[in-house]
Amino acid sequence: MIPSNHPAAAPDRPEGSLSDGTRVVHAGLPEPVVGEPFLPGPVFAAPYHLDPATGPGENGYGRTEHPTRRALEAAIGQLEGAPTLVFASGQAAITALLLSVLRPGDTVALPSDGYFTVRAFAEGTLRDLGVTSLQVPTAGPYPDFSGVRLVLLETPANPGLDVCDIQAVAAAAHAAGALVAVDNTTPTPLGQNPLVLGADIVVASGTKALTGHSDVLLGYVSTADDALFDRIETWRKQTGGVPGAFDCWLAHRSIATLDLRLARQTSNAGAIAALLSQRPDVTGVRWPGLESDPAYEVASKQMRRIPGIVSFDLGSADRVARFLAAAALVFAATSFGGVHTTADRRAQWGDDTAPGFVRLSCGIEDTADLVADLTAALDQA
Ligand SMILES: *Cc1c(COP(=O)(O)O)cnc(C)c1O
Repeated sequence: MIPSNHPAAAPDRPEGSLSDGTRVVHAGLPEPVVGEPFLPGPVFAAPYHLDPATGPGENGYGRTEHPTRRALEAAIGQLEGAPTLVFASGQAAITALLLSVLRPGDTVALPSDGYFTVRAFAEGTLRDLGVTSLQVPTAGPYPDFSGVRLVLLETPANPGLDVCDIQAVAAAAHAAGALVAVDNTTPTPLGQNPLVLGADIVVASGTKALTGHSDVLLGYVSTADDALFDRIETWRKQTGGVPGAFDCWLAHRSIATLDLRLARQTSNAGAIAALLSQRPDVTGVRWPGLESDPAYEVASKQMRRIPGIVSFDLGSADRVARFLAAAALVFAATSFGGVHTTADRRAQWGDDTAPGFVRLSCGIEDTADLVADLTAALDQA
């Protein structure tokens, strides 16, 4: 049973009658009330007043019940198509899933090219708890899943941007009795709907394109499996990794522009991928929207839009530093999906990528300005 205080309990399906731009503007908003704002402001409360006779009603204590957080959960739940729980970060959400599902002796399949911290968690804490992890490249080949409890996919994978066929892998995993979770951080629910493609669970960082202003840490889990939802909600209640009221409100406010932001980011990425792939001084250009990209075919089949992330190699750390110093419109920063164009040399974080490997996150700046700036910076570097 989904708790009755959860407005995401009966969300719209992602393939509803309204289009993306309309859905994000209205996602999670309350019914209009004269004299009230469209999106109610953040409620700053730990305990709430209680009825001395009947005790807790809808709101008793902020770790377990929070109106600003519920509104955000309703919004994300409508976009992903299932009841949703938000967390203080993407890692809090992913580890909540892993630790509430996996038990000693279990095996979890993880992408070998996926988010680095998830792999580090599997090789540390999960291994110490007696959970085996099986690392599989996102592009496959996928092993036989017998004996696997949970298959966690990440597609497109961060930072290499390989893609896997969610429908095919979910069918094979389900046939072997495994649960399937998809990290939907990079595409966002407007780019890909893993639950419609057969996954049981979506996990994601909302820190990236979903909120898109580089000012909030957020994570979430969405699932239509009531028992699993209850387990993860209990996990969150007992471990306490909830996001604060102001972060929830900022995130909710940001979602209204998701369709517009993604549209510009995708078109900027298309122009930049085309520019980079024509230059002899840039290698390994990856963007799943390029017809020549190995991920193009599967991405075109299962994704509703291609993310604004392009990866490539400039050969050395020095050359990346010269490129970033010369680019006026590209901030050197980690993370991605924000309105400002940023670039991250992943190897500086101890990631297992090549020293000159760059993940470029296209912002929403004017396309011609960006292309001109990148061209000049590469010429100088
Ligand atoms: C950033 C990221 C995470 C972790 O999210 P945080 O909000 O930084 O904790 C997980 N998965 C992917 C694919 C990410 O890009």
